[in-house]
Amino acid sequence: MTSDVLVVADHRRGDLRDVSLELLSAGRELADAAGGDLHAAVISGNVESFAEDLDREGVDRIHTVAHGEEFNHDVYAQALTAIAEDLAPEFVVAPNSVNGLDYAPAVATRLDRPYVSDAVGLDYSEGTLEVTREMYGSKVETTVDVAEGPFVVSIRGGEWPPAEGVGDAEVSEFDFEVDEDAVRSKVKGFEEVGGGDVDIADADFLVSIGRGIEEEENLELVEELAEVTGATLSSSRPIVDNGWLPKNRQVGQSGKQVTPDVYLAIGISGAVQHVAGMKGADTIIAVNTDPNAPIFDIADYGVVGDLFDVVPALIEEFGGE
Ligand code: FAD
Repeated sequence: MTSDVLVVADHRRGDLRDVSLELLSAGRELADAAGGDLHAAVISGNVESFAEDLDREGVDRIHTVAHGEEFNHDVYAQALTAIAEDLAPEFVVAPNSVNGLDYAPAVATRLDRPYVSDAVGLDYSEGTLEVTREMYGSKVETTVDVAEGPFVVSIRGGEWPPAEGVGDAEVSEFDFEVDEDAVRSKVKGFEEVGGGDVDIADADFLVSIGRGIEEEENLELVEELAEVTGATLSSSRPIVDNGWLPKNRQVGQSGKQVTPDVYLAIGISGAVQHVAGMKGADTIIAVNTDPNAPIFDIADYGVVGDLFDVVPALIEEFGGE
């Protein structure tokens, strides 16, 4: 076994996801702690451009597997097992994304390694990996000590800074043939769900609406605010439960984790399950009639006021009408 780290790039519908660059930072930290090299693996039909994006400071080698445009469990499990068997890294680090949660346990099983999911912190010293995780909607922080490697972990998006700079990693195609007979599923196409192909996890500016909006018809108001400010619309869970917005817009414990530069929470109380999904935003602004709403405990800026007054004023300010 080497002291190296292998991280696995995440992409969706042709775009590298932000968590891929965060994985490089987490991986570099582990590689420095263990005294090893940082490797990145990318599996896609579009490996050249992804490899270019992944070549950041601190990355030693990038291994590409040119196969298919879309994620496939069996291809990932086969390829990553083969790469890990070849490199024998102390750590395999995957994203805690839908894809990562799909293949990481399978890879760990094939390699006969322990697996810890949803890490928000990693600390490696003297052969023990301490993984920090959150429980009960981020109310409780726990640490899991894994005393003996090699390890497989998946990390939560938004917890590490993205790797920066331009590196000079050695990029090479991994010598590997997919066993097509063992590939049990095939992506035949995509069907749009309502809400379009929007990934709120990638947005820089979210206008997020909660139950304070009262009626579905009133959503037009916040849609207009999102439009004039160039923001993406997201929401708390009741809005999705009511069927007013599709599930891919929901922020929170049972929705998406988001880390925008700005999160504008309108008519959202700030329940722990909601906060679990957005507390990583750089700047949180809240609009709420209730000065004691818990959202103000974590907001950087707050307006105690009626959204039906505040939102039109913001539209006028930013829309210039
Ligand atoms: P409310 O809590 O009803 O708050 C509405 C707020 O709007 C209030 O603070 C009120 O003062 C304010 N308001 C009312 N009128 C106005 C006005 N005119 N102008 C300005 N402000 C106004 N929730 C999520 O969001 N995401 C999740 O992923 C999620 N997962 C969950 C998982 C589990 C297992 C459970 C049990 C719950 C989960 N919830 C989740 C639900 C969560 O507990 C809350 O019920 C929910 O977040 C409340 O949404 P809200 O803030 O929009 O509504």
